Amino acid sequence: MDVSFVSAVKKITGDSGLLLGKDVSERKAGIWIEEPIAAQAIIRPKDTKEVSEILTLCNKNKLPVVPHGGLTGLSQAAITKSNEIVISTERMTKIENIDSIGRTLTAQSGVKLQTIQEAAESENMYFPLDLGARGSCTIGGNASTNAGGNKVIRYGMTRDLVLGLEAVLADGTIISSMNSMIKNNTGYDLKQLFIGSEGTLGIITRVVLRLQEKPLSQCTALLAADSFDKVKKILKHLDSGLAGNLTAFEVMWNEFYTLVTTPPALSNPPIQQNYPYYILVEYSGFNQAVDTQHFNGLLDAALKKNMIVEAVIAQNEKDRSGLWGIRDDVEQQFQYGPIKIFDISLPINSMEAYIEEVRANLKKHWKNFHCTVFGHVADCNLHIITAVGSGEKKAIKLMEECVYEPLRAIKGSVSAEHGIGLEKKSYLNISKTEEEIKLMKKLKKSLDPNNILNPGKVFD
Ligand SMILES: Cc1cc2nc3c(=O)[nH]c(=O)nc-3n(C[C@H](O)[C@H](O)[C@H](O)COP(=O)(O)OP(=O)(O)OC[C@H]3O[C@@H](n4cnc5c(N)ncnc54)[C@H](O)[C@@H]3O)c2cc1C
Repeated sequence: MDVSFVSAVKKITGDSGLLLGKDVSERKAGIWIEEPIAAQAIIRPKDTKEVSEILTLCNKNKLPVVPHGGLTGLSQAAITKSNEIVISTERMTKIENIDSIGRTLTAQSGVKLQTIQEAAESENMYFPLDLGARGSCTIGGNASTNAGGNKVIRYGMTRDLVLGLEAVLADGTIISSMNSMIKNNTGYDLKQLFIGSEGTLGIITRVVLRLQEKPLSQCTALLAADSFDKVKKILKHLDSGLAGNLTAFEVMWNEFYTLVTTPPALSNPPIQQNYPYYILVEYSGFNQAVDTQHFNGLLDAALKKNMIVEAVIAQNEKDRSGLWGIRDDVEQQFQYGPIKIFDISLPINSMEAYIEEVRANLKKHWKNFHCTVFGHVADCNLHIITAVGSGEKKAIKLMEECVYEPLRAIKGSVSAEHGIGLEKKSYLNISKTEEEIKLMKKLKKSLDPNNILNPGKVFD
């Protein structure tokens, strides 16, 4: 690497802010990726000013830059080439302020999601974004992927939880939109440009998050249903019975549930394994005794109306985390050998027929395959994991076609919450029109004319 560039970076970040050689290649490229990071260097700025100075330098030298948060992303959006420079937010970990009256938390973008949740909780407040990768992913990564997770039905996606944001453009310009108010209609909402753009338009350095009052009760249950029609009825029954306050509605198809409740998986099946659908439902309210009575009453009514065939209700926090442990044990899928993880969205009414079509498509190519399905059904979001005994490029492409092509006719999305990255860019046209893609490219060109920010991600 160019000596003058190295000394210029060290001047900005200090010696410990720059990693080279083995310090780069000894790191894994992602939480579930075995390959090492391929990059010229990892730069670790401490604040917005350092990010700005580094980007100014990289832009002048036309050096491609890939932002790194916790590397838990699942769409190859943080993958690097050997000529690229990583800018990691791992030293940008300050929580700057928690305002329990304004209900905001201000933090640097490298703070881990779980740390944000715990900091909010320490002030008796609540940050509702929650996902299985909470201990490793960063709030900057969450914003740049517009992460969803388990409570979107009640609180929305990351986009709905960010009030203000600071980002640095490719040329080093700092865009500080650190708004802390719920209402602010002063022209374009610029922060939204950076949310969900996977590091292609700017590097997010700070955020103002919208906090909620902490729920005072939790009611959680695992239900079994014998048809998808009943799954839809239960969703309607519970959400209307809770006046739109249902907090989570996670559906597991039989193959997923059986896998995560059979050894070597850690959980035992709280409900027998022979039903087609299992639903983890949760309601957060204001008074445990009152809410439990109301929640249990709704489940009772659902049982009487034959919407549910069996139910297990969590009696305490241990039961609750046991039920969530079943849903979160996604890593059991690796038992199937090479797997392909899909994250799609489609209208709830189309889900049953769509999954049948995907299975029929897979059957045309492979006699033996796994197709496990689970997801945030109330948000129209399904995760599908396929395994066909091969991880070769040709097999992956065929699996992708089996899953993505049927989405075209029903106006589904090839990415509900993980983003496009490298992985889905050739399928972007299933979910975006030609005009939309043209406008996206125009925006990219005007904000990053030298194409240095995460080049080749989302589109070419
Ligand atoms: C077990 C597990 C469960 C998961 N569950 C969910 C889920 O329920 N819902 C969901 O949405 N996702 C889920 N994910 C995916 C992942 O956790 C999210 O995409 C997360 O938001 C990524 O954050 P990160 O800090 O790890 O980002 P990274 O993986 O480091 O980066 C992801 C993208 O963001 C860019 N980026 C990172 N930081 C910045 C920054 N400061 N500025 C600009 N760009 C940046 C990167 O360049 C890349 O394009 C899960 C992942 C795992 C492993």
